[in-house]
Amino acid sequence: MTQSHRPRKRFGQNFLHDQNVIRAIVTAAKLEQHDKVLEIGPGRGALTHLIAPAVAEMHLIEIDRDLAAKWESQQYPGVHVHTADALKLDWGALLSAPPYKLVANLPYNISSQILFKVIEHRHLFSTLVLMFQKEVAQRLRAQPGTKNYGILTVLCQLWFDVDPVIQVGPQAFTPQPKVDSEVLRFRRLAEPRAVVTEPLFFIQVVKAAFAQRRKTLRNSLQSQGFDTADLDATASHIGLDLQRRGETLDLTEFAALTNTLYTIVHSA
Ligand code: SAM
Repeated sequence: MTQSHRPRKRFGQNFLHDQNVIRAIVTAAKLEQHDKVLEIGPGRGALTHLIAPAVAEMHLIEIDRDLAAKWESQQYPGVHVHTADALKLDWGALLSAPPYKLVANLPYNISSQILFKVIEHRHLFSTLVLMFQKEVAQRLRAQPGTKNYGILTVLCQLWFDVDPVIQVGPQAFTPQPKVDSEVLRFRRLAEPRAVVTEPLFFIQVVKAAFAQRRKTLRNSLQSQGFDTADLDATASHIGLDLQRRGETLDLTEFAALTNTLYTIVHSA
């Protein structure tokens, strides 16, 4: 792919050139010939040129029309180019024969939104290998009770094994970003780490529990519209202290809270 294209800041274009990092990402994806891969933001192809020849099918979503046009003109066998914003595209329609592996050096400004979308469409994916700003990666691997533990930590750890792959300094990219990065690998678990009867309700409760993270669980959940009587009934049923903060609950406790709260809310 030509280098004449000038990097566009608004699309978070920091192109990878460090071969060790590129190899580490591709190796972590453990690609096999029959695999189907989605790459968000192929850019100039640091990852794409290694992955495309090694797998059966590859979908590229690229928002930058100039870069996407270059991929379209390449006509790589098995590669499908989608000139679009990955956040707006209907992944369910695009990825119609799961499972897929998602590999991406994500623009930092949309990585959390992409992860929420991955969680919503988790059944489409077996493995993800994703680059994040280091602080975001630390949050995704955080333990309960720490300041880094948050909504995406809980959601990712419920449905995925999350492992560090490689730490990446700014010098691995052109142009260099102002932050350090880290690549993580996610492997979807055959069963979620805790039994969750209503996944959408679970996501709603976890978001509400962290809505006011300095407040108690009771205040944070109430502020998001949950009823005090329902919360009290749930807490006494499962023996949960609502004076705790949301960030202290582990996955099992979040699951117990939401499963019971759902039953109580819907039995009224
Ligand atoms: N994969 C290339 C690499 O590793 O060198 C490029 C990575 S660069 C950090 C991010 C890429 O994502 C750019 O090509 C950018 O144009 C593209 N991009 C940014 N926002 C996007 C979006 N919302 N949907 C799809 N692609 C996007």
